Amino acid sequence: TIEFVRATQLQGDEEPSGPPPPTQAQQKESIQAVRRSLPVFPFREELLAAIADHQVLIIEGETGSGKTTQIPQYLFEEGYTKKGMKIACTQPRRVAAMSVAARVAREMGVKLGNEVGYSIRFEDCTSERTALRYMTDGMLLREFLSEPDLASYSVVMVDEAHERTLHTDILFGLIKDVARFRPELKVLVASATLDTARFSTFFDDAPVFRIPGRRFPVDIFYTKEEIEAACEMLQDRCRRLGSKIRELLVLPIYANLPSDMQARIFQPTPPGARKVVVATNIAETSLTIEGIIYVLDPGFCKQKSYNPRTGMESLTITPCSKASANQRAGRAGRVAAGKCFRLYTAWAYQHELEETTVPEIQRTSLGNVVLLLKSLGIHDLMHFDFLDPPPYETLLLALEQLYALGALNHLGELTTSGRKMAELPVDPMLSKMILASEKYSCSEEILTVAAMLCVNSSIFYRPKDKLVHADNARVNFFLPGGDHLVLLNVYTQWAESGYSSQWCYENFVQFRSMRRARDVREQLEGLLERVEVGLSSCQGDYIRVRKAITAGYFYHTARLTRSGYRTVKQRQTVFIHPNSSLFEEQPRWLLYHELVLTTKEFMRQVLEIESSWLLEVAPHYYKAKELEDPHSKKMPKKTGKTREELG
Ligand code: ADP
Ligand code: MG
Repeated sequence: TIEFVRATQLQGDEEPSGPPPPTQAQQKESIQAVRRSLPVFPFREELLAAIADHQVLIIEGETGSGKTTQIPQYLFEEGYTKKGMKIACTQPRRVAAMSVAARVAREMGVKLGNEVGYSIRFEDCTSERTALRYMTDGMLLREFLSEPDLASYSVVMVDEAHERTLHTDILFGLIKDVARFRPELKVLVASATLDTARFSTFFDDAPVFRIPGRRFPVDIFYTKEEIEAACEMLQDRCRRLGSKIRELLVLPIYANLPSDMQARIFQPTPPGARKVVVATNIAETSLTIEGIIYVLDPGFCKQKSYNPRTGMESLTITPCSKASANQRAGRAGRVAAGKCFRLYTAWAYQHELEETTVPEIQRTSLGNVVLLLKSLGIHDLMHFDFLDPPPYETLLLALEQLYALGALNHLGELTTSGRKMAELPVDPMLSKMILASEKYSCSEEILTVAAMLCVNSSIFYRPKDKLVHADNARVNFFLPGGDHLVLLNVYTQWAESGYSSQWCYENFVQFRSMRRARDVREQLEGLLERVEVGLSSCQGDYIRVRKAITAGYFYHTARLTRSGYRTVKQRQTVFIHPNSSLFEEQPRWLLYHELVLTTKEFMRQVLEIESSWLLEVAPHYYKAKELEDPHSKKMPKKTGKTREELG
């Protein structure tokens, strides 16, 4: 392994960008000055030489050193996009792809979507001219469907590789393969942490290029072990904040935040004011916000986990890894010495946190990816070149599920229906539901349901001072049948209002979520022809809509037993989420969109079904016998608590 190591160079303080609006020329110059001040800049030539010399290069550098925004620009300047060739730079997160592309477009003085663009699911901001394409790793994966050898790309940069998302991991295997028969393709694997040796080994001992790191030290503070002390400290802080609240900008940043809101976190703080950025782990490495001096790290992250034995996927709040904690601490101290307050003990850090996060591929369902790989003609998944292989049971279950959905035949080959399912950029069950809407002549409604499910952020909002109003507004949308129909109802009424924001405001509905649902719906509608589904409406016959949903989600079913809800196949105990329109109804049979494990295994977005529908839509999966109800006569009317009882 050739390594390029240099002593750390401390850079001078960057000019904090103050308020008087600079002229365009000044702005341009200051942007170029910032570019030159980035840690990667002194290595520009050395880096380009290394890229010229090696097909695969692993690039390691602290967050904020300029990997994402600078390296693709250097390649552009160096002529890697001549003759219409493109450079792809992948990001695990949508927000990062959008925000970084916007930043680079500004640095290059071009309109976003021209030379520089981004492409994320349901949103393509690129054109024929786009040479630098920032995209989610999932989008590059889909790119393989239309261009299996990525022939129009001269460079593929897999960024944030250390995040080890499912899509990034799959990309590794595919790109390694493409690189073998496209020697002129350059592959860059960029990563923030020290785990680069793994990547190097995987890519046949590719050299590692290190961009030296951090500029200022960060003091790390742990909480004491006394809980009371911690509470006192927090209360004290809140009290002190009380009088200062006007000077404190509180800005959230998370994956589904719309871009206008995202932009706000990057705006300079007015003089005298302070800024608090409340972030999910997106701010861990994907985004760099200037001027952060203090980091509060609660030590948790939301993580997907998957149990292949039960087929249950859940989103849980779990302790983060040491690697994550160190990344978080690193957010402080970019412009001056920083402090990181860890809301856990040094002991917990040492003994309770895992060294690194388990790669997503080992804790997620693989239906989507297996379907994609099958459509790429990769049949032998057991021998696919995985950086870390997924659990055998998970692969097997994915194959089984795709078989049950009719995407694969008994030989594990892609069926016509499977090929169509892969065309739609959504989970296999959702694709199946959309395909089934043809049979039940209700694609208009199903498109809406699908779009609303894809948005997957809250549709309703509950301002603290208007809880009762908000809850009433929500209940007003309830329709017999369940939550999917409620989503349909909200969207339909909103469409009838002329997609009005005022209507949303009056009904305590999130306008932004709705706008996104509308975008998603349009995109999906545009794909219907390709999958041979015609537009049709159920004309109010919601049974048809419910059956089409069942055709996709017959895997996610639960029945009411004497001891509450149990999933039909695995007999797991599950609960209806208190926000569901069916919470008090407690229907005997239902399907759910997803399971979320918080205090309990909650089913979110549930729909009442009839057991006979399961035989109708999935006769190969269900036997009449297992759908009989042994104690149907003595069924208790209700077993769950009412909403009021839960508080
Ligand atoms: P890396 O990929 O190595 O973490 P980036 O290329 O993302 O680094 O960031 C380099 C620098 O670019 C950051 O330190 C920051 O100053 C600037 N930057 C990045 N994104 C933005 C943005 N959206 N707005 C303003 N500045 C940004
Ligand atoms: Mg980056």
